[in-house]
Amino acid sequence: MKYLSTRGGCSPQNFEEVLLTGLAPDGGLYVPENLPTISAEQMESWKSLSYPELALAIITPFIDGPIPDDELRSIIEASYGEFDHPDVAPITQLGENEYLLELFHGPTLAFKDFALQILGRMLDYVLKKNEQRVVILGATSGDTGSAALEGCRHSDYVDIVILHPHQRVSDVQRKQMTTVPGDNVFNLAVEGNFDDCQRIVKAAFADQSFLPDDRQLVAVNSINWARILMQIVYYFYAALKLGAPGRKVSFSVPTGNFGDIYAGYLAKGMGLPVDRLVVATNKNDILHRFIRNNEYAVAELNKTFSPSMDILVSSNFERYLFDLFNRDGDALSEFMSRFGQETLSVSAEQWEKLKDCFDSSSVDDDTTCEVIAQTYAEYGKLMDPHTAVGVKCARDCRKDTEAPMITLATAHPAKFAEAIAAAGLENPKLPEHLQDLFEREERYTVVANDLNAVTNFIETNVQ
Ligand SMILES: *Cc1c(COP(=O)(O)O)cnc(C)c1O
Repeated sequence: MKYLSTRGGCSPQNFEEVLLTGLAPDGGLYVPENLPTISAEQMESWKSLSYPELALAIITPFIDGPIPDDELRSIIEASYGEFDHPDVAPITQLGENEYLLELFHGPTLAFKDFALQILGRMLDYVLKKNEQRVVILGATSGDTGSAALEGCRHSDYVDIVILHPHQRVSDVQRKQMTTVPGDNVFNLAVEGNFDDCQRIVKAAFADQSFLPDDRQLVAVNSINWARILMQIVYYFYAALKLGAPGRKVSFSVPTGNFGDIYAGYLAKGMGLPVDRLVVATNKNDILHRFIRNNEYAVAELNKTFSPSMDILVSSNFERYLFDLFNRDGDALSEFMSRFGQETLSVSAEQWEKLKDCFDSSSVDDDTTCEVIAQTYAEYGKLMDPHTAVGVKCARDCRKDTEAPMITLATAHPAKFAEAIAAAGLENPKLPEHLQDLFEREERYTVVANDLNAVTNFIETNVQ
C-alpha cells in the first residue's frame, strides 16, 4: 500500500515514511492510494472477533511491510489492554434504534486513545529499528495532548512537545497533560487559541532548521495518517455488532478537525454498509455551513462547552475534498489557495455528491446542556458535551428510523465538569486511575503566540 499527497506534488510513500512525518512536502495530506474492499462474507467472519483481533485484520493491508505481523499484534494487544472496559468500545442504547458507541474507556478518557496508544508503540518500534530519535510536536484543543503524551512518553526515542491554548482547555484536560512525568515531556501554553497553536506547529514543520541535523518532527495530530487508520476499526466493530453487513447503520460524529468522521467515510469506502454520516458541529460550524449552503468560508471562533471542536478550519477535510475533486491534486491546490480569502463553492455536481454522503447540523451551548439533562433524566446516562452535540445532530438529521443511528461518544463526562454543572447535574467522578489528578504536580511553560517563542524553547530544552 502506497500513500499519495492530496496536493499531487510528491512521489508515493510507504506506511513507515508516512508515520514518521506530518504533512507531505508539498503541503498536502497523505491518503491511501486505494482502499481494500471488504466483502460481505469477510465481514460475516469478522463478527466473532474481539476488538484487538478486528483491529489487526483491518489495519494489516494498510501497513503492508514495515511492521511485521507478530509485532503488530503485540502493539495492538498492549494498546487496547490499557482500556478499562472488556469490549474496548462498548455500545449502549438510548431510544429506539438510537445508540452510543463509547470511545472513552482508554487511559485519558477520550477517543484519541484508540489511535495514540498505537501510534506511540508503532513509533517506538520503527525508531528503535532505525536507531533514530525524533521530536514529536503537536497542537491540542485539549484531548490530543494528553492522549499523545500517554501514548508516546515511554519511548526512549522521542521528545514530545505539546502546545495548548493558554486558559482555553478544561482544568481536567490541562491537568492530564501537565502532570505527565518525564524528562522528554514538554507542555507549552500558547497565549492564543487552538488555531494559533495549529498554525505555529505547521510553520515549525515547514522549516525544521531549528532542530539538530539528525532529528525531524513527527506529527501526532490527525494529519498523521496512522491516527485516521486506527479510527476506521470502531466503525466496523459497531456496525457488525448492530447487524452489518445484512443491515445498514448510520453514524453521527462530533466533529472538529474532521479526522474521526473521515475514518467513517473510509470504512464506507471499504464496503461497510453505512447509510448516513452526520457531521455534528457546535457553533463553530464551518462544515455545516458548507454542506447546507455550499459556502466554504472561515468565520469567527466561538468558545463553547465542547472545546475539542472549537476550531475554525478542519484540516482533515482536505482528504475528503481530494476525492470530491476526483483526486486531482492541482485542482485541489488551486481551490485551497483561495481558502481563507474568499467564500468558496464547489460545482453543483460536487455539492450533490457531498450532500449524498454527509448530513450535518449545529448545536449551541444551551441546547447541548438541555440534551445532557434530558438524556440523564430519561435514560440515566450522563453524556459529555461533545457526545451531546452528536446525539442532538443525529436527531436533527435522522430520516430513516429503521437503520440504527450510532453516535460516537467521544469523551468521558468527567473531563467537562463545566458543561455538566451548567446542565444542572452533579459532576461525575473521575475513574480510579485519575482520582488524585488534582493533587499531582503540574509542569508547563507559558509562551507568546509566536513561532520563534516555540522553536527557541525547543532549541534550548530538547537535547
Ligand atoms: C478531538 C475530539 C473531537 C473532534 O474530533 P476530530 O477528529 O477532530 O473531528 C470530538 N470530541 C472530542 C471529545 C474530542 O477530543
